[in-house]
Amino acid sequence: MGGPGAGKGTQSAKIERALGIPHVSTGEIFRQHIEQQTDVGREIKHLLDDGHLAPDELTVRVVRERLADADCQQGCLLDGFPRSVAQAKALDEIVELQGGRVDLVINLEVSDDEVVSRLTSRRVCPVCGAIYNLEYNPPSVDGQCDNPACEGARLIQRDDDREDVIRERIRVYHRKTEPLLQFYGAKGVLKTVRGEGKTPDAVFAKIESYLASPDVACGT
Ligand SMILES: [Zn+2]
Repeated sequence: MGGPGAGKGTQSAKIERALGIPHVSTGEIFRQHIEQQTDVGREIKHLLDDGHLAPDELTVRVVRERLADADCQQGCLLDGFPRSVAQAKALDEIVELQGGRVDLVINLEVSDDEVVSRLTSRRVCPVCGAIYNLEYNPPSVDGQCDNPACEGARLIQRDDDREDVIRERIRVYHRKTEPLLQFYGAKGVLKTVRGEGKTPDAVFAKIESYLASPDVACGT
């Protein structure tokens, strides 16, 4: 778990490599269904086009199907799911039926101000889509894409990387995930990792110490 700009994508990739387990992202599963034009894909595309979120029932169904796949039998890393206590309870039922359990919930925590500073310094190349960060990963020439094929295209700030938009996203995230943090906290599987001012490697070192715990059975 982690709000916008908390580094969830970066850490997911590191966990996936360290444990040799698949990274299961509901967003990715839905994109594949849409691409392959399955029944689920058509249903979800229709909903998203109308500005709706995927209903719990549909989300739980695709997760159940994905977790039954052979590559998930030694465990997997879930990303983007569960997003509510109702989904978390459904997940418990799914994994119990398959003889597993939720071993560990990592909550990446970064202060609101740091998230705002990380995301407002993000710039995107409108030609190739490359993402830069003015603080951590600046282009070699100020304001221009490094990709030779882009011929010095001017980097832009996306509308949803503006401070007011980011603050609203953070607010919504906190409100929605608070009950979920309490749910997993009460189960004793929640570990909060603070990312404030740390490099991605330093954050991962902390996560790795939790992955090594004997309670974590995945990837073995
Ligand atoms: Zn470019």
